[in-house]
Amino acid sequence: MARTTHVIGAGLAGLTAAIHLSERGETVVVHEAAGQAGGRCRSYHDPALDMEIDNGNHLLLSANEAALRFLATVGGADRLVGPPHADFPFVDLKSHERWTLRINDGRLPWWIFNAKRRVPGTRASNYLAIARLLRPPPGATVGDVIACKGALYDRLVGPLLLAALNTAPPEGTAALAASVLRETVARGGRACRPLIARDGLGPTFIAPALAFLAARGVKVGFGRRLRALGFDANMVAALDFGDETIGLGDGDRVILAVPPVVATALVPNLPAPDEFRAIVNAHFKIKPPAAMPPIIGVINGTVDWIFAFADRLSVTISGADRLVDTPREELARTIWREVATVAQMSDTDAPPEVLPPWQIVRERRATFAALPAQEKKRPAATTAWRNLWLAGDWTATGLPATIEGAIRSGDLAADLAAGLARH
Ligand SMILES: Cc1cc2nc3c(=O)[nH]c(=O)nc-3n(C[C@H](O)[C@H](O)[C@H](O)COP(=O)(O)OP(=O)(O)OC[C@H]3O[C@@H](n4cnc5c(N)ncnc54)[C@H](O)[C@@H]3O)c2cc1C
Repeated sequence: MARTTHVIGAGLAGLTAAIHLSERGETVVVHEAAGQAGGRCRSYHDPALDMEIDNGNHLLLSANEAALRFLATVGGADRLVGPPHADFPFVDLKSHERWTLRINDGRLPWWIFNAKRRVPGTRASNYLAIARLLRPPPGATVGDVIACKGALYDRLVGPLLLAALNTAPPEGTAALAASVLRETVARGGRACRPLIARDGLGPTFIAPALAFLAARGVKVGFGRRLRALGFDANMVAALDFGDETIGLGDGDRVILAVPPVVATALVPNLPAPDEFRAIVNAHFKIKPPAAMPPIIGVINGTVDWIFAFADRLSVTISGADRLVDTPREELARTIWREVATVAQMSDTDAPPEVLPPWQIVRERRATFAALPAQEKKRPAATTAWRNLWLAGDWTATGLPATIEGAIRSGDLAADLAAGLARH
């Protein structure tokens, strides 16, 4: 009988592992606890807005090679859109300045020598000081390596690293910041083009992935929460779903692609991150002004980034634990005032006190906290059991908790399970 790989969890890591194995003609079954796939990267119909929205705005960069490969494989690549160059518009809500950061395409960073391309109020020498962050000492925080103050930090490095780490940069793991910077800014503008799933995360990533799997005969079961793993000597011998137990044969394999709190409950003595950071998203059902760029960075506001979609304006606030208990209405009003200012809406178009239909989505455990102590707890993909591998953005990918990290972890787990890689 053909050996079967059971993938537990249909987030991006689990879906990637299943795709990778099914491409090789392996027999794969996916078990997902929720009623839909996508995990933390999903779209859903929001009743308050009566529209399909994402659980959170997700930004990718053109350097995210594994994510782009995933989309090329399943057929969603044309749904990621972005400008032809690495141009990032910003607004400072305190000084009311507006500028566009323009990172030139090639590796030689001449943009830092051009006052029209770099951040206003900075000099080229400020950027050279940041280069220290590319090779930080082990165990260091960002704050150990660079001074977390000054115009360049406040207007670029801080916002960029907060978005990447979802953790206040001064306490964030410098090695993770370094990986992100080495793969993006240090490679030039071609690696930094912002990319957005214009039609939503579900239609871009998840629906094509499910269609790809269905076409290869991979069954994805929903409402299938794994309750326990049955161990026998050095292998997993059974999967317990409560109402059903699946016995595993000698060649069968398991890829566990669930969040860390679930994995530690299923696998004995598994080290895993146990501190998390929130992300708050706000969505306003209103047609953005024609001049509004697809993404704009906000300095000195509650809001970090504003995304303009065809039918709504959406906001991301990272490292947002301070806001998870703020009353929703109060938060919506604060955010809307900032959005209307940034979008330069007139009081007639958008009276500041009248909110368009809105929704606030708070993901309390959006990502693990990117702290040096948490980094040490990220496990490898291999386990003490010969037919069990781990995948997920929280495993030791060398990247922060991102789509790119989740997809790379799924690729690696599939390679290990197929015997194609050693870890
Ligand atoms: C609001 C928000 C904004 C973000 N913004 C960005 C961004 O801009 N750019 C970026 O790159 N990344 C971003 N991320 C991070 C990105 O979404 C994640 O890194 C990625 O989706 C993680 O995928 P995963 O497969 O590792 O985990 P998950 O998506 O958590 O998948 C785990 C799956 O396992 C399932 N599961 C749990 N328990 C069981 C069980 N017992 N049995 C079976 N199944 C189970 C879950 O239901 C889930 O589907 C953001 C995340 C959030 C929450």
